[in-house]
Amino acid sequence: MSEVKRFIAGAVCPQCGVADKLRMFERAGDYYRDCVNCGFEEKMAFDERPPPATDRIGSDRDR
Ligand SMILES: [Zn+2]
Repeated sequence: MSEVKRFIAGAVCPQCGVADKLRMFERAGDYYRDCVNCGFEEKMAFDERPPPATDRIGSDRDR
């Protein structure tokens, strides 16, 4: 199973404080976020909804 990681626009890394470096991904039904700048990784709260993808262009799923 491949993990699809998407950048979270405007999110600031709690460890290094750099914005737009956080990605979120799903693993085994849980949501995680990680930072490409410092390697920070964190499991997100269970009831926390993933943010909408901001890099989606077009409407592939409507086909
Ligand atoms: Zn970071």
